[in-house]
Amino acid sequence: MKIGFIGLGNMGSGMAANLLAYCQCEGHQLSVLDINETAVALFESKGAMRAHSVSELIANSDVLFTSLPSAKEINALALGDSGILKNLQPGSVWFETSTNEVSAWASLRDQAPEGINLIDAPVTGGAEGAAAGTLTMLLGGDKSVIEQYQPLLNSFTKRAVHMGPSCAGYTAKLAQLHLNYLVAQGIGEALMLGAKAKLDLNTLYEVLNSSCASSYVVENYIPKVLDGTYDESFKLGLAEKDMRLINQLGEHLEVELTLGSVVYDSYQKATQSYGFDAPHLSIIRLIEEQSMTQLRNFVIENPRTDVESALEM
Ligand code: NAD
Repeated sequence: MKIGFIGLGNMGSGMAANLLAYCQCEGHQLSVLDINETAVALFESKGAMRAHSVSELIANSDVLFTSLPSAKEINALALGDSGILKNLQPGSVWFETSTNEVSAWASLRDQAPEGINLIDAPVTGGAEGAAAGTLTMLLGGDKSVIEQYQPLLNSFTKRAVHMGPSCAGYTAKLAQLHLNYLVAQGIGEALMLGAKAKLDLNTLYEVLNSSCASSYVVENYIPKVLDGTYDESFKLGLAEKDMRLINQLGEHLEVELTLGSVVYDSYQKATQSYGFDAPHLSIIRLIEEQSMTQLRNFVIENPRTDVESALEM
């Protein structure tokens, strides 16, 4: 089998590394493409084939994976004479793993020539999960086609779930992200309550993490707020894009996302203040600045008195 991979960023580099290991065991070939020369050179040094253009990559691919920032880049690579749609051979499959716009994907699917299978296949589990091969993939499209590629998908996911017809994967991903981002803003607010009452934030973290409010976001994101790194593995601008897509989907499906619009506003403000490439948990810097208090894992001298006085308020 000949496999192509476009987009070797935070997510793509982990997925492609696991695919490369699988290809090397099973005698398949992996070709890669990215505008980032350093990322491509690293994969080439490990045995992947370098492609210089989309058409060269597609000529060497029965199966294509893409991991790109947004619909803008996906459409630019998909359309035109040298694009993905015109160059994929009949019978080939394109698994699109980015978090993409539902209507943009539906339009590409409708323009795809007969015999090309487009599967929306966004992933959840973060860059850590991509590197560890433990992602969950949410798939939309022809189930019988997806089943043929199950061993390939298993090489870099712990679960690949068929959610329904085309676009069902993206829709499920946006529902998951909606909850994810509400909780991301929520941990900032919960920690700030603790900080203002002078609670020890490490102890508060332990308590939240073993309480009925525990979640992946609580467990994995709070330490990256408390150490001041705000999680470099995902860009703030991509989170803002996701919140835009979530609110668009809400409008399209006529679901009022009361919290969704408030949290989207916070992501827009944070991206304006700190830039597209800032780490995504910079959204919590907004709360820190508004409250003039940094959320760090400091230990306080006399917690009881302060907590008691805060609780009396
Ligand atoms: P990223 O910015 O780290 O990676 C994107 C990659 O695409 C980069 O290597 C970039 O050079 C490459 N690229 C951009 N334009 C290109 C072009 N025209 N041709 C070839 N390569 C091009 O982003 P990421 O964090 O890896 O996210 C990728 C997608 O996955 C996004 O849609 C994101 O929303 C989604 N996602 C990210 C995470 C995460 O935790 N990072 C988790 C789940 C889903």
